Amino acid sequence: MSETRVRFAPSPTGHLHIGSVRTAVYNWLLARQKKGTFVLRIEDTDRERSTEESVQAILESMRWLGLDWDEGPEVEGPNGPYFQTQRFDIYREYIDKMLAEGKAYRCYATAEELTTLREQARERGETFKYDRRWRDKGPDDWPEDKPYSVRFKAPLDGEVVVEDLIKGRVVFDVAQHIDDFIIMRSDGTPTYNFTVVVDDVTMNITDVIRGDDHLNNTPKQLLLYEALDFPVPRFAHMPLTLGQDKTRLSKRHGATSVMAYREMGYLPHALLNFLLRLGWSHGDQEIFSVEEMIRLFSVEKIGISAGIFNAEKLAWVNQQYIMNDPPESIAKELPYYLDKLGIQATVDERLVGIVKELSKRAKTLVEMAEGARMFFKDDFEYVEKADRKFLKKESLPVLEFLRDGLRELDAFSVADVQGVFEAAMERFELKLGKVAQPMRVALTGNTVSPGIYETVYLMGREPVLARLERAIAHINAKPAE
Ligand code: GLU
Repeated sequence: MSETRVRFAPSPTGHLHIGSVRTAVYNWLLARQKKGTFVLRIEDTDRERSTEESVQAILESMRWLGLDWDEGPEVEGPNGPYFQTQRFDIYREYIDKMLAEGKAYRCYATAEELTTLREQARERGETFKYDRRWRDKGPDDWPEDKPYSVRFKAPLDGEVVVEDLIKGRVVFDVAQHIDDFIIMRSDGTPTYNFTVVVDDVTMNITDVIRGDDHLNNTPKQLLLYEALDFPVPRFAHMPLTLGQDKTRLSKRHGATSVMAYREMGYLPHALLNFLLRLGWSHGDQEIFSVEEMIRLFSVEKIGISAGIFNAEKLAWVNQQYIMNDPPESIAKELPYYLDKLGIQATVDERLVGIVKELSKRAKTLVEMAEGARMFFKDDFEYVEKADRKFLKKESLPVLEFLRDGLRELDAFSVADVQGVFEAAMERFELKLGKVAQPMRVALTGNTVSPGIYETVYLMGREPVLARLERAIAHINAKPAE
């Protein structure tokens, strides 16, 4: 096998689960490292449970995380994804081939018959296995115009060995684990174990990296590979992601959908880093650039034990990225959160400057957007205590001086703004704090903001002058002290 080709194959039956997207991350990293191909395949053959909404949630989550896929028919863009429901002709072709070669057979057992068999097995305390009643029948036995399913003619005994890159050698006893499972339902739809094999082969997948909840399916799939005379890919079954209490990660442990983390203000880069580290390590390094993730990742280093989801760790990773990522890349994420506050912002130098100022303090992008609000909106009320303490008659001359000075500036750079403040300090013989605090309250309604020069500069001249006028009028309207 030459070029590395991997796939992520979600079933669109709900939001994209944080544990499931970890599989996507690992596949994507491997593809990018090997300069191979990353295929996104939507496994939507279960028509009752698959929804368009879920498809969109998957695509949106993948795009947000930057997990771009490389190929497929032109559907949601030039590179796919693939949808299994658009591939029924291909599956049908291989079902027919299996039937023609006697590797599969028609089963006319009715739902009632199968229910009876199932009940009988339960009474005997056994797990249900289809009794192969149609295995050796032929056209003469087939009832006319009756629906039938197609079953795989599985071997009756022997072993199937999965050589897994993570789990090692896993041996399955055929008689115990495998019956003549259905590969095409009586409504004509193919089943998961069949479609996955046909897809992985026809898409030339070289490495199947997926959750170990599928390990039990792998022997069935290996038998199908053999029956169809297909080359077998490498398999790597990743341990599941668990909550702190070591049970399967679920809503009880917090949000499980990828997009919920976006809503909470996490950077995609932080989530990628966190998901990678859940079951993979490189010494004790905690923070990786995307380029490092791609360079250092290896399937062999995926741990055998389950990744434990720790929300505090994720919050910490996120804060590290907010502090250290280039402000330009954080600025690209911020408009999404500003929009929720009714602010339409464009990613420009000013927004980058705002991010630079706020990234020292904000733990999430939600917090950052709240901090950025004051640069865009002037509908604030003065906080009572700040108003009482700083917007006093004695502050009037200082605020008026600043207003005039800022209004008359030729250029409005941080240094120019600073010059006006320095002139005010000199003129009134005041320390910076005494000049800056009334100004902060005038501009933001409160006493906290980033550095005052940067705040004035980033707010822009006209909004600053308007807010100063408002504060001056507000002070003038106060009764004499
Ligand atoms: N569609 C399957 C799932 O969502 C994944 C199948 C596979 O990776 O083989 O669990």
